[in-house]
Amino acid sequence: MMSDESPMKLLNPGPVTLTARVRAALARPDMCHREAEFADMCSRILSKLGAVYPASQAGYTPVLLTSSGTGAVEAMLSVVPRREHAKGTRTLVVANGVYGERAAAMLAAQGKEHDVVSSPWTRPMDLAKVDELLAKGGYAHVFAVHHETTTGRLNDLPALGALCKRHGVKLLLDAVSSFAGEDIRFDEWNLEACAGTANKCLHGVPGIAFVLVAHEVFTARETGATSVYLDLFRYRREQTKGFSPFTQAVHALFALDEALDELAALGGWETRHQKYVALTRQVREGLFALGIQPFLEDADSTGATLSSYRLPRGLTYEALHDHLKRKGFVIYAGQGPFSGEMFRVAVMGDVDATDMTRLLAEVRATMP
Ligand SMILES: *Cc1c(COP(=O)(O)O)cnc(C)c1O
Repeated sequence: MMSDESPMKLLNPGPVTLTARVRAALARPDMCHREAEFADMCSRILSKLGAVYPASQAGYTPVLLTSSGTGAVEAMLSVVPRREHAKGTRTLVVANGVYGERAAAMLAAQGKEHDVVSSPWTRPMDLAKVDELLAKGGYAHVFAVHHETTTGRLNDLPALGALCKRHGVKLLLDAVSSFAGEDIRFDEWNLEACAGTANKCLHGVPGIAFVLVAHEVFTARETGATSVYLDLFRYRREQTKGFSPFTQAVHALFALDEALDELAALGGWETRHQKYVALTRQVREGLFALGIQPFLEDADSTGATLSSYRLPRGLTYEALHDHLKRKGFVIYAGQGPFSGEMFRVAVMGDVDATDMTRLLAEVRATMP
């Protein structure tokens, strides 16, 4: 049984198990979001967020908002002009999982012209099709998902980014499960904006998400927002002074402030990436030794933060999940058509190799 001293280890793709340091930050003294000390904290967080990828500092502005990661992705789409200002240009969404499909649904909800290049969830992005469509012209933006959490695939952004650059089309990136865990190339990928969240690779708590936006967007264009709340341009205007148009999740910002310091103290995103790679490899090799196969046939395209596996014959997800939960681990189910066939293991947050060794021993105990 669990005791208070050994908290549940969350192996779902966010929220993550907090470190003691980040958890303690939640108890900082209360703060009003209209006071100078709040503006100071926000300005500090914005510059630390910019520093996570030094290559972003010169050209991109972080914008903070109170929402989950989905809210940041939806707010990011306010850089896409509304239909009446779009001058006939469209957005090309590249989808091979839940999150690419969700972005297409957002553009539809915002009444913005778009096309979707879909691949099966088990397959890489269809870059030949993307190339063919971009060559025809008429696109101002490509939208893609960096790490497709549906399957754990790290999409081939170097190749997609090179296509965007060659065709002179700007890239909008859902980096929600990769920001601070994988490499992001701002210039090489022709990136206009990318969306992230506090509670995945940054190891903060849910409630705060953000978008890094190329500076010139705010001067060259009017907002394309189709809602009052998710208007990135409005957040940006207020945040030049450290404030926000609406009440921010103040305590989640305390945690993010601390989590960003912790990330920097531990060596930044590269060190964190290496840690994730080692843990994911340990899990994959340990499960393989038990006869459990990776879900993706091209398992080498799995990213650092999460990996997916086929449930072995004779073991249901519920049986595996419930046993592991009794032993102090939360794993994650498959989505959509794969909900009965797959399980996923994320390695973000305060987990280490000893935890993974224990996890593997408990998986072994459930094997038929
Ligand atoms: C987690 C995630 C999101 C956003 O999910 P929320 O539940 O809204 O935080 C978006 N895209 C990807 C790739 C994700 O992994």
